[in-house]
Amino acid sequence: MKQTSNTAIVLRYANYHEQDRMLTLFSPTRGRVEAVARGCRKPKSHLLSASELFSLGDYELFEKNGRATVIGFTPIESFYPLRSDFDRLTCGVYLLALCEAAVQPGAQEQDLFMLLLHTLSRLAFTDQPWEGLVTGFLHNYAACQGMRPRLRHCIRCGRRVEDGEAACFDLREGGLVCADHGAEGLPRLLPAERRFLRHAEETPASQWLADAERTPPLSVMRQYVEARLEMPLRARLPEVER
Ligand SMILES: [Zn+2]
Repeated sequence: MKQTSNTAIVLRYANYHEQDRMLTLFSPTRGRVEAVARGCRKPKSHLLSASELFSLGDYELFEKNGRATVIGFTPIESFYPLRSDFDRLTCGVYLLALCEAAVQPGAQEQDLFMLLLHTLSRLAFTDQPWEGLVTGFLHNYAACQGMRPRLRHCIRCGRRVEDGEAACFDLREGGLVCADHGAEGLPRLLPAERRFLRHAEETPASQWLADAERTPPLSVMRQYVEARLEMPLRARLPEVER
């Protein structure tokens, strides 16, 4: 029996009984934590704001026999503006679902946690198009999972693919294929799309920028990442994909 304090964000919840919720929390130092928020659906509950999707804060947990109960909450951020834009909300839920698919109980996931917070902040508080934000997230998420796409050399022959050159992307192998090496049936990855991915790899998430020189290859990255998940994803992106 112990009491712990944990900075965490709500990835998911499930209602049960009349007024309770089971929260799936993501902590950068403890990975996935399941915790009960008792009475949190009562209108005057002090845990009301602790038990919503995207709630980021310090969770006081009472832990006994492997079960955790939320006994206190200090809010940090709720990413509230996401609620007023359906596409951006849908993207936010998609990012939470990707984290849920990756984060194991007890895992240290500082990089993924910060990537999630920075991307949600930009979805909620800037008007930067969501396609670029989600693509940058997917690319760095893949890197956090040890499956960083190879974007500089052909994975068949090892030759460096120059900046203006045509190339395709092998979704199964996770890397570029040059024009000489049987790109049949593979999606193309245009120079401007490769520039975007390299930029998202080299720049902190708070500074990613899509512009005329850098196009986010959303569809390719989505297919690449989703095909590698060990469980079906609970969320989908908005319909319009570029
Ligand atoms: Zn090649």
